Amino acid sequence: MKIWVLGNGQLGMLMRHAGMPLAIDVLPVGIEDIGAQQLGADDLVTAEREHWPSNATTESLAAHPNFANLNTIQDLADRKIQKSLLDKLGLATAPWLALEDDTDTDAVFAQLGERVLLKQRRGGYDGKGQLWLKQSEAVPSLEGWRGQAIAEQGIGFSEELSIIGARNAQGEKVFYPLVRNLHQNGILLASQSPVPERQHLQPQAEKMLSALMDAVDYHGVMTMELFRVGDDLLINEIATRVHNSGHWTMTGANISQFELHLRAVAGLPLTRPVVLAPTVMVNLLGVERNDQWLTVPGSHLTWYNKEVRPGRKLGHVNLVSDTPAHLRDTTAQLLKLMPDNYQVVLDWFVDH
Ligand code: ATP
Ligand code: MG
Repeated sequence: MKIWVLGNGQLGMLMRHAGMPLAIDVLPVGIEDIGAQQLGADDLVTAEREHWPSNATTESLAAHPNFANLNTIQDLADRKIQKSLLDKLGLATAPWLALEDDTDTDAVFAQLGERVLLKQRRGGYDGKGQLWLKQSEAVPSLEGWRGQAIAEQGIGFSEELSIIGARNAQGEKVFYPLVRNLHQNGILLASQSPVPERQHLQPQAEKMLSALMDAVDYHGVMTMELFRVGDDLLINEIATRVHNSGHWTMTGANISQFELHLRAVAGLPLTRPVVLAPTVMVNLLGVERNDQWLTVPGSHLTWYNKEVRPGRKLGHVNLVSDTPAHLRDTTAQLLKLMPDNYQVVLDWFVDH
C-alpha cells in the first residue's frame, strides 16, 4: 500500500517512520515544483500541511480521488471559514469577527473588549501573522489586515490543552486523553500527558471534536487546540492533521498519532489510545543538537535534521518515566542542558 503525503517536513517524515512496521509505503512529497508525480489508482493521499502552492507537483496529488479530506483541509485553512463552521456547529471559540474593508478599531474593541489578537486568515503558524492590539495603547493601522484577517478576543485562559482524535470511513472515532501545552511567543514549547486532574473535561472535549469530525465526514487524525477557562473549553484552532502536541504519543502511548492517522486513512482497524507512562515532550527550538540530551533517563530524541535557525522547530525530546515525581527530576535534568528560556517548563510542569 502506498500513501502519498503532501509536504515533506517532519510530520511527513514521522508518518513514513510509522508506516514501516505495517509495510505501508509512505511517500512524502515536497511542495516545490518537481513535476507531476505518478500516482496509482489505488494509492491514498494525505497531507502534513494545510497550505501549498499550486504547481504540477501539488496538483498531481490534489487531483487524486483518494485524497483524504481535501476540501476540509482547504476550507479550514482559512480562519474565517473555520470559525464560521465552529459557530454553525455551536462549538465555543474565542469571540471573533472578520476584519472587513470597512471595519474600524473602535468597532473591534466595542465588540471584543480591550485586548484583541489579529490573525491572518491564511498562512500563519507558530504565532506568525498575528498582532496584539490593546485599547489603552497606540493602535497600528489595520491596513494589510482588512479583508484578510480575523480579530479574536484575548482570552485570559487558565491553561492550554489539546485533544487529538481519529475517525475512519465508518464513522468510528477514538481519542487521546487531553494533553497540556505550554506556548511561548505563540510557539509550542512543551506538552505533558496524562493530565488526570482534567479528566472530567475529557467528555466535553471529545464531544466537541466528534461533532466537527462528523460534520465534515473526516477520515484521519484531527487536532483541536483548546483554552481552558475554569471548567469551560474554548476552541483556539483546528489542525486537520497530526500535530506537534501529539508528539508525546510516539513514546508515551500504545499507538503514535502518526500510526493512528495512517490506520484511519487506510481503513485499517483503529485502536483506543491509552497512555502508557507519564510523558513530557520538549520542543527543540533554534538550539544546536546536543547528544548529552540522550543521557537523561527515559529521553527519546527526534532530530529533524534541518538547518539550525533561531526559533526554528528542529526536533523534540520525549521524556518518559514511571512516576510523575521521577518525570519532574528528569525534566529538570534535561532543562539544565537547554537555554535559560526553557526553565519556564519546570514552573509549568504539574505533579499529579
Ligand atoms: P500553530 O503553531 O499552533 O499553528 P498559530 O500560529 O496558528 O499556531 P494560534 O494557535 O492561533 O497560532 O496562536 C498561537 C498561540 O497564541 C496560542 O497557542 C495561544 O498561546 C496564543 N493565542 C492565540 N489566540 C489567542 C487568544 N484569542 N487569546 C489569548 N491567547 C491566544
Ligand atoms: Mg496553534
